[in-house]
Amino acid sequence: MADLLVHFASAFVAGRPLQDGRVRSILYVGVCLPDLLFKLLLYGGGAPTWLCEPTHTPLGLIPFCYVGALLFEEAWRKRAFFALLGGCWLHLLVDLGKNYMGNGVIAWGFPFSMQTVELGWYYPEDSPLMMLPALALIAGVELLGRLSGRRPASP
Ligand SMILES: [Zn+2]
Repeated sequence: MADLLVHFASAFVAGRPLQDGRVRSILYVGVCLPDLLFKLLLYGGGAPTWLCEPTHTPLGLIPFCYVGALLFEEAWRKRAFFALLGGCWLHLLVDLGKNYMGNGVIAWGFPFSMQTVELGWYYPEDSPLMMLPALALIAGVELLGRLSGRRPASP
């Protein structure tokens, strides 16, 4: 939960300049999608970890975003695809900073390479400590947006 809040905060900051509220909402879904897919496959489907790992790779997420975009009407599919993919890739950038005991989990070159990378700036168990800064970031961006008089269109 804490992790999703941090991911949402990153999407809130990135999505704030977007004028179209619907695209912004799809971006919010996209930023949560990699973890939701990973856990759905792992716990809901009983899939082995190696089968779940493409949900945390830049190219592996493309088919999932394509299928997700098919849920929208035809005129919106292209925008929905790129908003979902943008959110997913933003998720990967935030996950890149995690420390997975030096192993990393994001295979940037998948399917051509399974070599994983991490920056190791914070541990996954530190996510609850990042909840308050994430909430403060969301509030700060919203406050700045309101003070500047630029209110985003509602979805
Ligand atoms: Zn993740």
